[in-house]
Amino acid sequence: MQNINFWDAHTHIHFRNYDEDRDEALGRAFSAGVKMITVGTQASTSEGAIELAKKYPGQVFAAVGFHPAHFASEWHHDENEQEDPVPEIFDKDKIKELALAPEAVAIGECGLDYFRVSDDETKEKQRAGFIEQVYVSHEIGKPLMIHCREAFGDLIEILEAHRDYLLEYPGVIHFFSGTAEEAEALLSLGFSFTFGGVITFARDYDEAIKFLPLENILSETDAPYVAPVPYRGKRNEPSFVVEVVKKLAELKGVSLEEMASAIDGNVRRIFKIEV
Ligand SMILES: [Zn+2]
Repeated sequence: MQNINFWDAHTHIHFRNYDEDRDEALGRAFSAGVKMITVGTQASTSEGAIELAKKYPGQVFAAVGFHPAHFASEWHHDENEQEDPVPEIFDKDKIKELALAPEAVAIGECGLDYFRVSDDETKEKQRAGFIEQVYVSHEIGKPLMIHCREAFGDLIEILEAHRDYLLEYPGVIHFFSGTAEEAEALLSLGFSFTFGGVITFARDYDEAIKFLPLENILSETDAPYVAPVPYRGKRNEPSFVVEVVKKLAELKGVSLEEMASAIDGNVRRIFKIEV
């Protein structure tokens, strides 16, 4: 497997979880042939993503954005992300400024997350903040890295209404959990889809994976969250993405080499990465 290029297209290896052993975890990824996009969730963690990408040029790239869960009035303090229990306020100009860094290859994670959100005010804030980030993508020509949970109807409506602001390869839907019809609507807008560890132990995603063309499938870990079999329950890390690509290959009925090479091409095309 030495010559195969793998991609963890959505990870958070710059998060605090890896402060003790980040270089070792990255070393395991690089020796398995894994390159990655490490994803910010607000301005502070987006800065962290850029810093790490600067340290490992050609192997680690950054995504810069403001996660929908951070718009919630009952903001959940994720200690993986930040030590300080103080929510950050969305600032489009700040996100745009960070996204201009050459290390940044995408705007995200951004999107909608209605899981555990009951009030319309928070949902409206999320929608407005997401639309601002669609504009950032358009203004600087970098694709979207979208997070969407229990909000695919609104997501598709916003994207269709802002069709003119989407790039030729508009980006990816990370950790896709929608239906086949929703996949079709997003596919027709030009989007691709990243799948992670959950596909190794849940069968809910098989139908969407089988339906999607190889040119629209990418692999991710979303580390430190949701490790694949056989690492379930452990802290996830980018080297584990190999297990995800194995499962994708099995579901698509292609060899591991073919699957990895399709993903490699997809990452380079969508994120305009040349390495
Ligand atoms: Zn994520």
